[in-house]
Amino acid sequence: MTYINQHILNNLFYILVSIFFFSFLYEYVQFFKQKKVYQRLLLVVCLSVPMILCMTYPIYIAPDCVHDLRQVPFLIGTFYGGWTVSVPLLFVLLIARFMMYGYQFITVAVYVMMCICGSLFSPLFQRLTRKQRLVASALMTFILAIAATILAIAISDFQVTESYIVDFIVVPPIAVLFVVFIIETLREALLIRSKAIKLEKMEVVSQLAASISHEIRNPLTVVKGFMQLMKAKDISQETKEQYMNIALEELNRACAIIDDYLTFAKPFPEKIEPLHVQQELEKVIHMLRPFANMHGVQIVATLTPAVMIGNAQYFRQCFLNIIKNGIEAHANDGAVYVDMHVDEKTVTIVVRDEGEGMTKEQLARFGEPYFSTKEKGTGLGAMVSIRIIEMMNGTWHIESDIGRGTTMTVSFPLLLEK
Ligand code: ADP
Ligand code: MG
Repeated sequence: MTYINQHILNNLFYILVSIFFFSFLYEYVQFFKQKKVYQRLLLVVCLSVPMILCMTYPIYIAPDCVHDLRQVPFLIGTFYGGWTVSVPLLFVLLIARFMMYGYQFITVAVYVMMCICGSLFSPLFQRLTRKQRLVASALMTFILAIAATILAIAISDFQVTESYIVDFIVVPPIAVLFVVFIIETLREALLIRSKAIKLEKMEVVSQLAASISHEIRNPLTVVKGFMQLMKAKDISQETKEQYMNIALEELNRACAIIDDYLTFAKPFPEKIEPLHVQQELEKVIHMLRPFANMHGVQIVATLTPAVMIGNAQYFRQCFLNIIKNGIEAHANDGAVYVDMHVDEKTVTIVVRDEGEGMTKEQLARFGEPYFSTKEKGTGLGAMVSIRIIEMMNGTWHIESDIGRGTTMTVSFPLLLEK
């Protein structure tokens, strides 16, 4: 039994280790997530290594054919990556084969055939569900092995031996089934994890919504109370006016809270999708112009086109709060500058004002809920902005000099591929 030996297990081991290696690098190295090309390159490298190792330590060397599991990584790459992975793998396979064991025409014919058929099958394969992929990959491997055998017999006087049937026709489909099962399980685990992270982030925002609706209820309760008091017949006009003023003030407070959180809210939360930073900022600035004019403040914007991933609604709310604070920081005339920088990976938005600035203590409390130095402030705007930035994987930085002004710098990952 030369065809069932330790080397089969070794071959399988090389393949499995490289699959784990691939998913490890893919998950933890951000670089590979940026472009499809990098992923394909990683796949080619991670599958070339076990292919070469399988050939270096074959199961059995027959006179006219070397038995090993090289077609397993080759077909896995072909099914998952299509042409762009299959063709480079084909070159690696053939070059390594000929350098180790010399040139043989059957090998070229067989693997070119597998490359063509496998690549044609790849788009279909990728549309299948998890279970279908298991069956389809094993079946396709089996069909290709049979086709390869027929091809080999047709073009040369190839001898089909018992060991050839085991090593080339029976074992590979089982190995492919096994490997695809592991790949799919790993993929599913990664998918569930990334979904869980997203949900967690959305959770933060919905908690925020809950706490803010609670905040709105308080002033409304006060208004209701005073309205009921006003219903009494024996109160003087003066008291009535007093009650009215209190009620109005509380209503203003409720409005301010809504402005800080719900200006852009719609009944159905928008999806997370590509958003055009420049356009969204223009909308916000347009909306704030009257408010700025009222304060005698100019908004000077220097914007450039950029696309990032996020929720447009939240994005607008975030910058509405920041720019509004900038405007409010001016006791007299002045200007708020909104600038944008785009580099390879990030889009940076800088909001600078020439207002009153903050002390060290105020700066330390910036973003804390209900921290406000304004008479009618809510102390919610900055917190909401910060939560939104963090939810969209952004970073922020604030600098402030008392009497000189404040600069808020916000960066988000740029979307490279549309
Ligand atoms: P509010 O605007 O209702 O006071 P915010 O959460 O928006 O609440 O801001 C909290 C506090 O942070 C403000 O009261 C103010 O003291 C300070 N602050 C925020 N932005 C600026 C700024 N651009 N310049 C000066 N102070 C600021
Ligand atoms: Mg504010």
